[in-house]
Amino acid sequence: MVVKVAINGYGTIGKRVADAVTLQDDMKIVGVSKTKPTFEAQVANSKGFPLYVLAGNEKKFDQAGIKIKGTIDDMLKEAEIVVDCTPGDLGDQCKATYGKANLKAIFQGGEDHELTGTSFNALANYKEAWGKQFVRVVSCNTTGLIRTLFPIDRDIGIERVNAVLIRRAVDPRDSKKGPVNAIKPVLELPSHQGPDVQTVMHSLKISTMAVAVPTTLMHVHSVIVDLKKDVKKEDVLKIWEGTPRVMLIDGSKGLPSTAEIMEYARDLGHARGDFNEIIVWRDGMNVVGRTLYYYQAIHQESDVIPENIDCIRSMMKTEPDNMKSIQKTDKTMGIK
Ligand code: NAD
Repeated sequence: MVVKVAINGYGTIGKRVADAVTLQDDMKIVGVSKTKPTFEAQVANSKGFPLYVLAGNEKKFDQAGIKIKGTIDDMLKEAEIVVDCTPGDLGDQCKATYGKANLKAIFQGGEDHELTGTSFNALANYKEAWGKQFVRVVSCNTTGLIRTLFPIDRDIGIERVNAVLIRRAVDPRDSKKGPVNAIKPVLELPSHQGPDVQTVMHSLKISTMAVAVPTTLMHVHSVIVDLKKDVKKEDVLKIWEGTPRVMLIDGSKGLPSTAEIMEYARDLGHARGDFNEIIVWRDGMNVVGRTLYYYQAIHQESDVIPENIDCIRSMMKTEPDNMKSIQKTDKTMGIK
């Protein structure tokens, strides 16, 4: 079975999901949508993706010389599942549209958990999305926390987690927002990421704080975990070594910051310079008594992309085994 996938919102996340779907043999893109005739619409065309537009904007694309196949409603008629990658505040409206078209839909982390009632991470709760009509793939930060915490909780046991998230100000493509010369704490405490992790790891005790800083490259998390058992730091490293989509690096080998990590991604030839893996500093973690300390870096534009692919398989019931789906996605996307 080849699942027909539409991407509504061909922006930062949408274009990456579209490319990742194209790499799979069990799903294909039947359309991507744009609201405006930007360079991204041209790129979608040149990649051969059928391009659909917001109704009423057809003329603008015509005037810009960009070929379109129809409106978003036309696109939905071609699909079995939509990956909604519109900006974070359109969820209710889009869900109503997909519901009317009798379609399944994946939403992104900019939407609230309540929109779908099911939030997703491939390693932690693949089966919760099984056959569902609406599921949300959690945000980049939440995905990062779950990727490293889930295997520790499974294999050692976690008493409690406290984490401070140092967030990138904006994505590299965004010239309109900041901060440019400020450090901006999120004043609502604890921040929303802790409860968001609990939408997937339901009984984990976790509190988070967050600060936005003037960088576009990645987020960094400082995480403190009270463990249920006495373990050595080597035991924790061994668990992460065996965890998909987690990569251990050494700061001492020329990777002390997010700047070098992004250069590393480019040197490795990763598409768009992305890092789908969560990056953990091997020489920046320690276990003291029963407390684990670590830092991790999150490439916000790309860590959620493989999760969307696995989520399609679970919702469409095409692969019952989460590890098989993860392995297939990772192999095709070149994730180590
Ligand atoms: P984006 O602004 O880069 O892209 C959004 C796209 O949606 C644009 O192409 C825009 O033209 C299109 N769009 C706008 N209104 C639309 C409408 N009414 N109908 C159809 N398309 C419309 O946004 P993004 O960063 O890709 O974010 C998308 C979602 O993914 C959000 O929920 C966001 O919170 C989440 N997310 C973003 C990141 C990130 O770092 N960028 C990481 C993880 C999750």
